[in-house]
Amino acid sequence: MGQAILQVQGLCKHYKGVKAVDGVDMRLNQGDIYGFLGQNGAGKTTTIRMMMGLIRPSSGSVKLFGEEVGKGSNAVLRKVGSVIEYPGFYPNLTAIENLDLHRRSMGIKDKRTLEESLHTTGLWEARNRKASNFSLGMKQRLGIARAILHGPELLILDEPTNGLDPMGIKEIRLLIQELAQKRKITILVSSHILSEVEQLATKVGIIHRGVMLEESTMNELKHKNRQYIGLQVDDFAKSQALLREELGIRDCRMEDDGWLRIYDDDRQPGEMNRLLVRQGIEVSSLVAMKDSLEDYFVRLVEGGAARG
Ligand code: ATP
Repeated sequence: MGQAILQVQGLCKHYKGVKAVDGVDMRLNQGDIYGFLGQNGAGKTTTIRMMMGLIRPSSGSVKLFGEEVGKGSNAVLRKVGSVIEYPGFYPNLTAIENLDLHRRSMGIKDKRTLEESLHTTGLWEARNRKASNFSLGMKQRLGIARAILHGPELLILDEPTNGLDPMGIKEIRLLIQELAQKRKITILVSSHILSEVEQLATKVGIIHRGVMLEESTMNELKHKNRQYIGLQVDDFAKSQALLREELGIRDCRMEDDGWLRIYDDDRQPGEMNRLLVRQGIEVSSLVAMKDSLEDYFVRLVEGGAARG
């Protein structure tokens, strides 16, 4: 496990009658791209605001690089860059003028940081255009250019693809990947659409009505949600051997829950059933799991809604 960059423990924010965030635990290790998922109003922005020390938690703690936020944590916050909700700019200033204002306010001496950030975010050509003429996608990228100007180790992006068209979404995804790979920045990105972070995230946290329903690595999540055919039979060993020998199935195993699962793609449950029955095996159950990760997210959130 890598070094913990961000640790959230028992984090709560209660407004009058609203538990916006209710006992959230999270952990980001160095190098993670963390997909922070939840429907609108789930509590993502409130959690992120507490991470950045912008609002005070009702209880619980946020640690950045091992230091608790809120206790003279200005120094540690300099290691973080963020774009929270829609980034705001001076509309009559150009992109580079907006960035330069920020550079000076942050006390960054090196002017080359402007050029680097603009190149990285693909905005160099548009540097002399006024921010008011920027599309939503360009504004998001300008927000990211501003957030990386001081060379942060952790970047927090709150719904950076909200309202963007598919091309804009792809551009942001590629940019996040580049920042993680080339600049080695650890990234937290929130979204309400799982498929938007699916190709990107190494770890996922799913929040609903202020409660963290699940936190796992993307590999664990994908493994749990692999499409499979599940069988319950009266002779596991013989069934396994038959499926392997007669149908050439390779990934066929007995799981701890007593189901024989076949993970090979493009398998027809009917042909398996026919083979086993023909060989005198009793097949008491046969299920085909065809859920996508998005279905899983919806089911999890609906389960959370039923509990909540
Ligand atoms: P969105 O994507 O819509 O911004 P979110 O997951 O970021 O959703 P939050 O903005 O964190 O959700 O809001 C979580 C809940 O807390 C919502 O029910 C919201 O109405 C409530 N809330 C947030 N800020 C306040 C506040 N200052 N006063 C009262 N309630 C608030």
